[in-house]
Amino acid sequence: MPFNTALTRKLGISIPVVQGGMQWVGYSELAAAVSNAGGLGILTALTQPTPEDLRKEIRKCRSMTKKPFGVNLTLLPALVPPDYGAYAQVIIEEGVKIVETAGNNPGPVIAQLKQAGTTILHKCTTIRHAKSAVKLGVDFLSIDGFECAGHVGEHDITNFILLSRARQELGGIPFIASGGFADGQGLAAALSLGAEGINMGTRFMCTIEAPIHLKVKEAIVNAQETDTALVMRRWKNTTRLFANQVTREAIKVEKESTSGEFSEIAPFVSGKRGRQVFLNGDVDFGVWTAGQVIGLIHDIPTCAELLTRIEKEALESMKKTESLWVEGISSKL
Ligand code: NAD
Repeated sequence: MPFNTALTRKLGISIPVVQGGMQWVGYSELAAAVSNAGGLGILTALTQPTPEDLRKEIRKCRSMTKKPFGVNLTLLPALVPPDYGAYAQVIIEEGVKIVETAGNNPGPVIAQLKQAGTTILHKCTTIRHAKSAVKLGVDFLSIDGFECAGHVGEHDITNFILLSRARQELGGIPFIASGGFADGQGLAAALSLGAEGINMGTRFMCTIEAPIHLKVKEAIVNAQETDTALVMRRWKNTTRLFANQVTREAIKVEKESTSGEFSEIAPFVSGKRGRQVFLNGDVDFGVWTAGQVIGLIHDIPTCAELLTRIEKEALESMKKTESLWVEGISSKL
């Protein structure tokens, strides 16, 4: 087992790669495949219409892997606000011991989960929010740079700054790096900056096991890093989306709306509509999230192939760095 980080030790995984929560993607097929390949697979709670459906999905995932897996619970504005406490209760009752939280006012849900002994990875896009989460007792921060897919926050700080700020400011609370990661070189860089591992979302969408239409995966392979766009800043819920036709229409509404009512943009950004993209393969049917990392994704491997490759690339990258020292790093330390 080549990796021994705070993340691999605490979660009981062999490769320090977490599959982040992804609405309409984080089903058991993907989570189990990632866990079986040595990373941490994650079910996305709100992808299940009710807490009882989440219970069934957790049981299904458990039948597909003997390895640890987690559940993502994201607390952001929603067109139909979910009962977060009820989802958290199911997670506890089903004995899931790892949860990725994200979003606004996570205090009550984190308290509920911590009381049950859950390990929490909390995702945030600023150091201020990371520090608040530390006070709430989270075990790991997932530091989410501006490169990321989905909810990028309102401060636009990329990971080169954010990760080093986390290293400087979080008083040794372990963190992982999220946003912009797709390969082992990225993992090695994150470890260098002080992270204990990485979180990947978009890269896992483009795997054989991701339960979404092949045409979406092909669109990711064909895309470049310039093919994403930001929407919903006006409502302080900025989201990075794949730059398709509906995204462009949403941006136009955002710019031109005189009322500033969210209801004007809602039909364009609706998750229900975006979900159809993953089912019918029409990449212009609705909005769907993608990170700038789409420019780094050129194939559709299995999760096992991907994680094996990432492990190999990271080790080669770290060896290469060491070889740049004439006398070898260990003799310098
Ligand atoms: P949805 O159809 O409820 O909403 C569509 C988008 O509009 C979402 O990005 C949502 O945050 C945003 N939104 C809704 N009402 C808003 C308001 N009043 N002001 C500002 N923004 C608003 O979204 P969905 O796809 O059904 O997702 C349900 C929930 O899951 C949302 O809170 C969403 O943000 C969240 N989510 C989670 C993940 C994840 O990885 N776990 C990924 C994407 C979205």
